[in-house]
Formats: sequence, C-alpha cells, structure tokens
Amino acid sequence: METTKLWQQFIRRISLIITIFTLGMIIGLFVKNIQLLNKEVESRAKSHFRNIVLTRRWNANFHGVYVKKAEGVQSNPYLENPDIVAADGTVFTKKNPALMTREISELAQEDSLYSFHITSLLPLNPDNAPDEFERESLQAFEQGVEETSLKGSKNLKTYYRYMAPLMVEEGCLECHAKQGYKVGDVRGGISVELDITEIEKSLRLNNVLIFILSAFSLILLLVLTYTFVRQLMKNIEKSQELMKELAVTDELTRLYNRRFFFEKLNQEFSRSKRHQRSIACIMMDIDFFKKFNDNYGHQVGDLVLKVVADVIKAQARTTDTVARYGGEEFTVLLPETDPPGARVFAEKIRMAIEEKIVTTDDNQDLQVTMSLGVCALSFEQLLEMDDETVIVKFADKALYAAKEKGRNQVQVYQQ
Ligand code: GH3
Ligand code: MG
Ligand code: MG
Repeated sequence: METTKLWQQFIRRISLIITIFTLGMIIGLFVKNIQLLNKEVESRAKSHFRNIVLTRRWNANFHGVYVKKAEGVQSNPYLENPDIVAADGTVFTKKNPALMTREISELAQEDSLYSFHITSLLPLNPDNAPDEFERESLQAFEQGVEETSLKGSKNLKTYYRYMAPLMVEEGCLECHAKQGYKVGDVRGGISVELDITEIEKSLRLNNVLIFILSAFSLILLLVLTYTFVRQLMKNIEKSQELMKELAVTDELTRLYNRRFFFEKLNQEFSRSKRHQRSIACIMMDIDFFKKFNDNYGHQVGDLVLKVVADVIKAQARTTDTVARYGGEEFTVLLPETDPPGARVFAEKIRMAIEEKIVTTDDNQDLQVTMSLGVCALSFEQLLEMDDETVIVKFADKALYAAKEKGRNQVQVYQQ
C-alpha cells in the first residue's frame, strides 16, 4: 500500500515535469516563431526604406531629374520654374526627390504589397502631412530616436509600419534652404507599411500545428511513461514479494522458518484472545535422525527432512502454520483447535510419517518415525497468559515426554 502510494506520487511528479517541460517548449517555440517573423518583417521594411533613400539621393545628387512632359505629366507646383524647353521644342519637367518619392509610392500602392509615405512636420505639400504614428515618430526622431515601428490592423488586415528619419543632405537645400534646413537636420521621414495578413495567417497555422504536434507528443510521452513505470512497479513489487517470501522461508524444506513462526504465534495468540477461541501447538522431532546422517550421509539426511516436511504440510489446513523449528524439529500452529482436535491431528501426522517410505537415490527404502508433543490451550487458559511462547515450551515438554516413553508417539501436555 505504502509503495503503491509512492509509485503514484512518482508517476504524478514525473508527469508534471514532462508536462511543464513540454509546455515550456511549446511556449518557447511560439515566442521564437513570433520573434523570427517580426525580425523578417522589420528587415523587409528596412530594405524598402533604404531603397527609397538611395533613389532619393541619386535624384538629389543631380538636383532633380527631368522627364519628358508628355500628356498627363504634371509640373511640380512646389518648384519655381519646373519646366524647360529643349532646342527641338520638347518640354521637360523637373522631378525632385519629394515628387519622385510620392509618385513611386503611388505605384507601390497599386501593387498593394507595400506602401510608403514621405512626410514631415512642416510639409510644403499638404499631401505629405503626417498621420498620428508618423507625427509621433517624427517627434521621437527629433529626440534622437533612430527608428520606430508599429503593428496594427485595419479593414481585417494586419499591417506592419516602420519609420526612420530622412537626413537633410546637400541636394535637399536647393528647395528647402528657404525653410531654414541645414545638412544633417532631421526634417522628415519615410514610413513604410507592409501588409502582413498572410504572413500572420501562416504564423498562426504554424503555431496551431506546433500545438497539435506537441499535445500529441505529450500524450504519447505520458502514456509511455505511465506504462513503463507501471511495468517497473509490477516487477519491483514481484521481487519485493519474492524477497519477503524468502525472508520467511526455510531454504531446505520450503516451510516457514522459526522467525516467521514466532511472528505468526504472536498474531494468532492475540487473535484467539480477541475472538475467544482455543489454540494449539505441536512440536515434532524425528526419531534417531542422526543415524540417517551417519549411515547414509548428509544428503540423505536432507532428503528425509524434505520428505517429512512435505508430509506434514500435506496434512495441514491452510490456516495452520507449519514451520521448521530447528535441525530436525518441526512445529505446527493450529488456530481454533481444542485439545482433542490437536491430538487427532498429531496422530494423523505421526501415522502419515510412519507409513511414508523414503527412497534414496540408490534405491534404499528408509522408514522414518517421529515423536510429537501437543499443547492445546482453551480460551480461559489463554486469558491467564501474557507470554505466547509458553505454549511452545509446553509442547516441547510433551515432546520430551514422548521421547522418554519410547518415541514414535504423541504426548499431550497436562498442566
Ligand atoms: P532423537 O530421537 O533423540 O531426536 O535422536 P536424534 O538423532 O534425532 O537427535 P539429535 O539431536 O542427537 O540429532 C539431530 C541431528 O540432526 C544432529 C544434526 O547433525 C542433524 N541435523 C540438523 N540439521 C540438519 C540438516 O539440515 N541436515 C542434515 N542432514 N542433518 C541435520
Ligand atoms: Mg532434535
Ligand atoms: Mg531427533
């Protein structure tokens, strides 16, 4: 019972450890997945930003570039004299970095993969006015913050926004000097917006997959652990039982040993007192056993002991305790047995031994006899006794009397 509890506790603990470990692993994987995705999205947004900055620098290095003013091409209203006429009369109009950025951003938006927005706290073009995220970012850039980002959703879609400042470069001054810009100033920024709905969706799917797989592994692991521990538990219990059995068994005869006999005597004595029942004890000793050893050798002596043990055992009830008391001495404890019953039983054993012929390996037939001393105590007699070993002493006295009176007989102890 105690060990079963211990095992249950062990299984509970190990299951808890496995569960915590697996949960930790799942959470770790989830977090790692999200971090990886965030990093990937951030680096995408950054490279878009870098591209725009480089394109703008290219444009600014040439102080703006001219494009043919074909039909539908508008002149930049924020520039003074944006148009020039070539020798052949073709009109070209100037695209400065700001206008170019805006026009590319419109193209990108049509592609709908990403969009970007050039903005400033003091825009010349009202279309370049910042939204809330951009305004807060621009203010942060003025405090020295190098970049900002934001994840949000609108119209059932998830967006990732990234923003970094635009430094005033030499090429910007041509138009912006009048606003008091100096090289190195942070006067605006570009915000990049990525639609990450699909990526988020696959992340969620990934996480669900991880969860299902982990849950499945966890269950499998728990079942395996439980089965393994159960099996181990059964094996250990079996060996424990075997050890317990060995500890109370006499090796040669397989009867109980003397230690167990006294344990049992103690229990049965108390039980008989409690239930107001009589109890009996028989002490037995093989007659002239020494001669078997002397005449046929020790092995034959052992064989005689084994055969005698089997005969006694065959006569006993399951409630009786048959034990090897010493060398060639045996004892039987008979609960709920009165004096006449004990005597009849002892006589039965005596006759069974006398009738049993022990055949040696070299086919010699041996006749064995035994002397028996009986002590049966009524419930009233029991009540007067404190020491249960007295019954053994009395049975031994009767056995001595049986030896004295010529052996191969039963004597009952008389008070
Ligand atoms: P009695 O009728 O008076 O009992 O005579 P006995 O020869 O049986 O008595 P005794 O006590 O003189 O001899 C018992 C012998 O049992 C002595 C001992 O060597 C032998 N013996 C004790 N244990 C074992 C055992 O395990 N195996 C064998 N073969 N002999 C044993
Ligand atoms: Mg003896
Ligand atoms: Mg003897």
